[in-house]
Amino acid sequence: MQNNLEFGVIVLGIAQDGGVPHAGCARSCCEGAWEHEALRRKSACLGIVDSLSGQGWMIDATPDFKWQHHHLSKYLCKNDGKQAFEGIFLTHGHVGHYTGLLHLEKAVMNANEIPVYTMPRMNRFLTEHLPWKSMVERKNIVLKPMQNEVSIVLNSRIHVTPFLVPHRDEFTETVGFMIQGLQKKTLYIPDIDSWDHFATIDQLVGEADQILVDGTFFSAKELGRRDMCQVPHPTIETSLERFSSLPASKKANFYFIHLNHTNPCLNPQSDEYHRVINSGFKIAQEGQIYPI
Ligand SMILES: [Zn+2]
Ligand SMILES: [Zn+2]
Repeated sequence: MQNNLEFGVIVLGIAQDGGVPHAGCARSCCEGAWEHEALRRKSACLGIVDSLSGQGWMIDATPDFKWQHHHLSKYLCKNDGKQAFEGIFLTHGHVGHYTGLLHLEKAVMNANEIPVYTMPRMNRFLTEHLPWKSMVERKNIVLKPMQNEVSIVLNSRIHVTPFLVPHRDEFTETVGFMIQGLQKKTLYIPDIDSWDHFATIDQLVGEADQILVDGTFFSAKELGRRDMCQVPHPTIETSLERFSSLPASKKANFYFIHLNHTNPCLNPQSDEYHRVINSGFKIAQEGQIYPI
């Protein structure tokens, strides 16, 4: 075990689906990251750890799964010395959020019956299409159905509740999660189209002790030729305004995550990063741990 963490949520990645650097990007946003490891950022992912039982779970299986699984496994050690990786919760069927399941396949880990918690359309997607289908058939993974707003009890100390959010649902529905421990709740919404059609957000933010939400773009300027309508997200600029009336204590635990490679907030020296901090909010960092 790496430290005294008892129950907590660990940030295992903060970037949008494609990570940083981003394939094919030769612009200034990725220039440094191609050369310097310290500037690289893994795709957005959370780990849930219960060091008392030695159990751990992941939220989403990203293209950086092997690094994130390794990071998480440092906290997992039962009394018998065995690691207990207990499962993966999937938010939705966009490539940065589930394709890391490949590492559980026969050619890699050849995992044995890892529970993968899925909403109905995601479940069908994995059951009907290769290569996921063969992993289900070979029992590398076992799909566990989730229902909107129905809590899943992980053990006597932790439960996780999925809730539907509006997002480009071409292939599957999209959910966010509330992770509840003995004392605290963490809210996680890595991808959402807009706050406008999701009135429940205020209640969820009110309940949560730690908040991690979609910070894909700082502003619409980043998209260049691509139309924001094709990849809708609330920009960080919009969210700073939308949540400006929250008390300072709430803002201090309000983090933006899932940052696109173009997002200037990846650079703590940027004006945009300072704008977030000066407004009382934060940018999530890999390795951060929130007690629950
Ligand atoms: Zn995403
Ligand atoms: Zn998405």
